[in-house]
Amino acid sequence: MREDKGILALNAFDPSRVSTMDAGLRDAVQRRLRSFGSASVLFYQEPIRMERADGVWMFDTEGRRYLDLYNNVPSVGHSHPRVVEAIRRQVGLLNTHTRYLSDVVDTYAERLLATFPPDIDQLVLTCTGSEANDLALRVAKLATGRTGFIVTETAYHGNTAAVTDVSPSSRPGQPLPPHVRTVPAPDALRAAGGDLGKSFATNVGRAIAELEQSGVGFAGLLVDTIFSSDGVYADPPGFLAPAVQLVHEKRGLFIADEVQPGFGRTGAALWGFARHGVVPDIVTMGKPMGNGFPMGGVATRTTLLDRFAAETKYFNTFGGNPVAAAAGLAVLDVIADEGLINNAQEIGGHLMNGLREIGNRHIQIGDVRGSGLFIGLELVRDRDTKAPAPDIANEVINRLRYRGILIGAAGPFGNTLKIRPPLCFTKDNADMFVAACDEVLREVCPA
Ligand code: PMP
Repeated sequence: MREDKGILALNAFDPSRVSTMDAGLRDAVQRRLRSFGSASVLFYQEPIRMERADGVWMFDTEGRRYLDLYNNVPSVGHSHPRVVEAIRRQVGLLNTHTRYLSDVVDTYAERLLATFPPDIDQLVLTCTGSEANDLALRVAKLATGRTGFIVTETAYHGNTAAVTDVSPSSRPGQPLPPHVRTVPAPDALRAAGGDLGKSFATNVGRAIAELEQSGVGFAGLLVDTIFSSDGVYADPPGFLAPAVQLVHEKRGLFIADEVQPGFGRTGAALWGFARHGVVPDIVTMGKPMGNGFPMGGVATRTTLLDRFAAETKYFNTFGGNPVAAAAGLAVLDVIADEGLINNAQEIGGHLMNGLREIGNRHIQIGDVRGSGLFIGLELVRDRDTKAPAPDIANEVINRLRYRGILIGAAGPFGNTLKIRPPLCFTKDNADMFVAACDEVLREVCPA
């Protein structure tokens, strides 16, 4: 019973509603549509004209303020002064491609690599998470000599042609390409019981066998280590370990997509894979890496990169440019100096407790799960049937928007509220959100 309309359909603006808007907003939306047409992607029944942001707050053109629980890009806080200053200073000094020696670039690479297990000792810098995953697929193919990949059923890994092939949520209703197999996300809520890690590994094993039998061969397992687009699955920590062990037994590579969970969001460590006690062969990064400055990267082992480089040269004009490196360094400094990993743990725990507490009053709250400041709140018709309630999720998201709170949706049905505020979120911010959720659910689902 999947009615997956694809990741971009979640909380999407419907252009047929233009006529219901006030003149100012209507003009702004029509202007956007004139240039970007059907490729335009806007959020909300009534899109927001956003003007500026600071910390956990965003402000629209009318000065209305929004508490941000959606944006994981400005992860250390919108317009963080240290990141802004690092970018400003470096762009005034030097910004160019990556074929000169530059101290800031090498310092950044060393600092970033020091955060990984020792085996992961080399880096390629890109501008986006999509580029990083595209490169990871190429490295895995060349290193294994095989082309088959396994991903989760509602995975999203980016927008290049090759990465779209391994992003089922970008191609709803279309058959999988012959070199791709999917496995169900590790969904504890709907699992038949038993050991989640074992059943995930069993499904991965089945997919490996299919790829081998079809003659494609198995190159790698690629997962977002917080399963964000699948609906946010974090627990129990360690559930990835049996699958990763199996992948290695079958001579495949494990690629950890850290674009969403990376840089401290899970509250346990800098990287989502660390919660599972596994060491990836390839790690891909993006989004929060430059706190809004476009950055991505692939970290891997020397041997794998050498095998790739022996066959193909890779050059990325803007990847790891000096300004990006300066932004990236400032992000690492702020995470450490402001104790943001601990904050994610503490405030995330407080927020989950608050949401579970209002769950006592709302049977529509089917599950509250996550790690640190990456939380999924799953809305269902009732807890016995666990039937997904995407209409309630959509209504809650839009009503919160009018109350000045921004969140999104995830999962195959779009019924899981995706809660990912900047990591400098406070207890007061969390309490404000929980109270607003409680009130909005009372409005949407009167007892
Ligand atoms: N991987 C994951 C898990 C993502 O969520 C995204 C972006 N939503 C990407 C990769 C692609 O990143 P980008 O949009 O920077 O190319």
